[in-house]
Amino acid sequence: MAYRAEYIWVDGTKPTAKLRSKTKILKDGAELPIWGFDGSSTNQATGDKSDCVLRPVWSCPDPIRGGDDVLVMAEVLYVDMTPHETNTRAACAASAAKFADQEPMFGIEQEYTFFKDGRPYGFPVSGFPAPQGGYYCGVGADEIFGRDIVEAHTDACLEAGISISGTNAEVMIGQWEYQIGPLGPLDASDQMWVSRWLLYRIAEEFDVMATLDAKPVKGDWNGAGAHTNFSTKAMREDGGWDHIIAGCEALGKKTALHIASYGEGIEERLTGEHETQRYDQFSYGVSDRGASIRIPWQCEVDKKGYLEDRRPNANMDPYVVTRLMVETICGDAASR
Ligand code: ADP
Ligand code: MN
Ligand code: MN
Ligand code: MN
Repeated sequence: MAYRAEYIWVDGTKPTAKLRSKTKILKDGAELPIWGFDGSSTNQATGDKSDCVLRPVWSCPDPIRGGDDVLVMAEVLYVDMTPHETNTRAACAASAAKFADQEPMFGIEQEYTFFKDGRPYGFPVSGFPAPQGGYYCGVGADEIFGRDIVEAHTDACLEAGISISGTNAEVMIGQWEYQIGPLGPLDASDQMWVSRWLLYRIAEEFDVMATLDAKPVKGDWNGAGAHTNFSTKAMREDGGWDHIIAGCEALGKKTALHIASYGEGIEERLTGEHETQRYDQFSYGVSDRGASIRIPWQCEVDKKGYLEDRRPNANMDPYVVTRLMVETICGDAASR
């Protein structure tokens, strides 16, 4: 029997790239080949030199089609097999290899918002729902919209073997979160992209759109982030506290670089309100949800663990964010 491989890749749309995918039918037992696509239709090439290359980098069982079918995360190359300019994975792979001895690990919290009929799921046809307060981790049909989709997405991630570590309803109505990790930088990022594809794909079946827009409703409504939890081997071991603090200090020296690479519209989200620190200020602290970097209380008790960079937007590119955190924190540790 033939099987189907859904090749998924990140396109060249600016300022925020989109996911694309197409299906390849393969002979029973055949390995996943290099493939190609029309880059002139994805903002990755001009019409006269339209061919771009897809190289498989990660794959898993396809939980939607089942059977022997698979999902394939692919990176985009030029026809000479060098990384395409939109391929942010290549640089992530290089820094992951460079600092592999520090064993960096990531747990990424992906927040997102469902939209139905052109408005956030749960918003009335006109006006606004009750103000925020009861929706976070809520229960009941007056507060929760889209739980059936969330459950279907979680099932799909588990069946695919994706390291999803939890889900919760968020502060804004129709807004949700799931977490991927802890995993190394490449696995966390590859799995994050495939889990996003599954989110869009499964919401399709419910006639609902999922968006990673960082501030889907202006005003007194929470934005959507992608808190990025990070540790190195040294942070996780006894005596890790000093390494966690050093990591926070290292991040504080490169704030402009990180903010500029943490997703489109970050100034709109990091206002200093709604559990954020302002984008133009930097702070870190234990349990502080108004800080740029939060150290979980348990880590202060244990004197080891991890730190949480609360700044990345929901629409961030995990290849970029994990690369930068590795380069900034592991690079600083290596220089000491
Ligand atoms: P929050 O309290 O910020 O909502 P979550 O439970 O949503 O926290 O997310 C915490 C994330 O941190 C999870 O994805 C988890 O896998 C991850 N995590 C736990 N320990 C580590 C670690 N040592 N290094 C990196 N990530 C970690
Ligand atoms: Mn969370
Ligand atoms: Mn959250
Ligand atoms: Mn968090």
